[in-house]
Amino acid sequence: MAEYSVKDRLEIPAKGSAVIVVDMQNDFVHPNGALFVPDAPKTVPAIARLLDKARKAGVPVFYTQDWHDEDDPEFAIWGRHAVAGTWGAEIVEELKPRKGDVLIKKLRYDGFYGTSLDHLLRLKGVKRLVVVGTVANICVLHTAGSAALRWYEVVVPMDGVSALNEGDYHFALRQIDFLYRGSVVRSVDGIEFV
Ligand code: ZN
Repeated sequence: MAEYSVKDRLEIPAKGSAVIVVDMQNDFVHPNGALFVPDAPKTVPAIARLLDKARKAGVPVFYTQDWHDEDDPEFAIWGRHAVAGTWGAEIVEELKPRKGDVLIKKLRYDGFYGTSLDHLLRLKGVKRLVVVGTVANICVLHTAGSAALRWYEVVVPMDGVSALNEGDYHFALRQIDFLYRGSVVRSVDGIEFV
């Protein structure tokens, strides 16, 4: 089993931080979705609590949405999912974006690839990202890794991410801790914006 260190508590300056909610879309999180991740619904209450804390502290919230054309080559790997403009590509009802939140439509696993995410984060002076969402070892890891390669500091709460199996889940957290020198925090409840 992959080993990594876990923090119980982490204080994060609200200034210079942002939350990124990765792909919490119907196709991944709703039981009727095309690529349902059975553990994803369990993360919804934790993510909702994190968003509540962030909004109260004035921390900007970004959402990524997997957003594919009808004939996207990625469908050869995963089947048809998150087609632009469909129900499956919408953010789940419980985590609906609010006014002022930023939605980033992404082409591949990495939320930075071919999108304006880096530019928009820099305009807001963001240096530190709390990353939650699904799938832990796919779009969450690629987005967190891509952030770390750009020298953003990355924080991932364990109850805010989900994978298709336990091995993938722990692998992703180990990469974030070891490879990307991010912070793995046991729960969103241990994160305080100060
Ligand atoms: Zn996709």
